[in-house]
Amino acid sequence: MELAKRLNKLPPYLFVDINQRIAELRARGEDIISFALGDPDLPTPAHIIECMCQAAHNQANHRYPETSGLPALRQAIAEWYERRFGVILNPDKEVLPLIGSKEGIGHIALCFIEPNDIALIPDPGYPVYSVSTLIAGGEPYFMPLKEENDFLPDFEAIPEPLASKAKLVWLNYPNNPTGATADIDFFEKAVHFAQRHNNLAICHDAAYTEVFFEGYKPPSFMQVSGAKEIGVEFHSLSKTYHMTGWRIGMVVGNAEMIDALFRVKSNLDSGIPQAIQRAAIEALCGSQNHISEHNAILQRRRDKLIKVLAKIGLKARIPKATFYIWAAIPQGYTSIDFTKKLLDEAGIAVTPGIGYGKEGEGYIRFSLTLADDRLEEGVKRLLNWKAV
Ligand SMILES: *Cc1c(COP(=O)(O)O)cnc(C)c1O
Repeated sequence: MELAKRLNKLPPYLFVDINQRIAELRARGEDIISFALGDPDLPTPAHIIECMCQAAHNQANHRYPETSGLPALRQAIAEWYERRFGVILNPDKEVLPLIGSKEGIGHIALCFIEPNDIALIPDPGYPVYSVSTLIAGGEPYFMPLKEENDFLPDFEAIPEPLASKAKLVWLNYPNNPTGATADIDFFEKAVHFAQRHNNLAICHDAAYTEVFFEGYKPPSFMQVSGAKEIGVEFHSLSKTYHMTGWRIGMVVGNAEMIDALFRVKSNLDSGIPQAIQRAAIEALCGSQNHISEHNAILQRRRDKLIKVLAKIGLKARIPKATFYIWAAIPQGYTSIDFTKKLLDEAGIAVTPGIGYGKEGEGYIRFSLTLADDRLEEGVKRLLNWKAV
């Protein structure tokens, strides 16, 4: 048999060594504290699970779902966007539920990218943007996210011929892995940049708009005038409602882009299990109280970890949103070496920045999604660890 060459384009999995080391240490009985996973540790709120269980007993939910999702779910998504952002969406043309947002983020490349086409992609960034570009046969052009630019891309720095050739630009705020946020002005700049370049399509990944601190409320890209003419926004119930395991998200915005993605998806998948769609409706329309409760927990964890990082000499900005802390490591280490050192000397697992792109070198990412007592133990170990 002969595997397709496109598989060779997939980047090597950089964490093989580190994951092997973690497995070895754990097999030896070592207690490893992991700040590595971006997956909420707290359970899906009970009222959402309750709704899913009831829906699972209903035979109407046992058959194939529609790729376009239940009309009631599209309606609930549109209403949520209006309540949260003041954005008005047509639930039939401007909303499409997804099997988790990663699914849509991956598939939309097939709608825009032909062989050798360019997509503009943030570096560091969520790996799916560049991998889906490569699978579609395209070329990622990486926009560096520099600390001195508050981890925002500098559109003016993109060479004109490349910008004119690009088909798609990816943005993600609040940002994984840097924890950076963007305001409406930045999104306006992005729309103007896209308009000036053959109406290049914008894909904004908004997975973290509901994980925020101290009264800061991240905006939606859809709030900017012109956004709907030129782009879409991906969102997810994963981080907001602690539903990563249930796989449900959505894309909203430009009707033509959404229809294109629907055409690809309707040939590849048969929708989201309906009991999970019912749970999503409950999540979006039911009590939202847990969001502020969870954010208060994450904020306490954030403050604890930030204080300790400062004490041991790892410089990090205090994120206003997301559950990530992006810390600069001392000169003289690669992010992989430093990650191994933390693992071997302190029994602490983090993610090396290089895993998110070349510009991620020099940083490590801490995720705050571990139980309070584990975080407490991790913080103690960091303090005892003779840093550098
Ligand atoms: C977690 C995350 C998502 C959400 O993924 P789902 O497939 O909806 O679970 C999307 N983008 C980024 C940057 C993320 O970190």
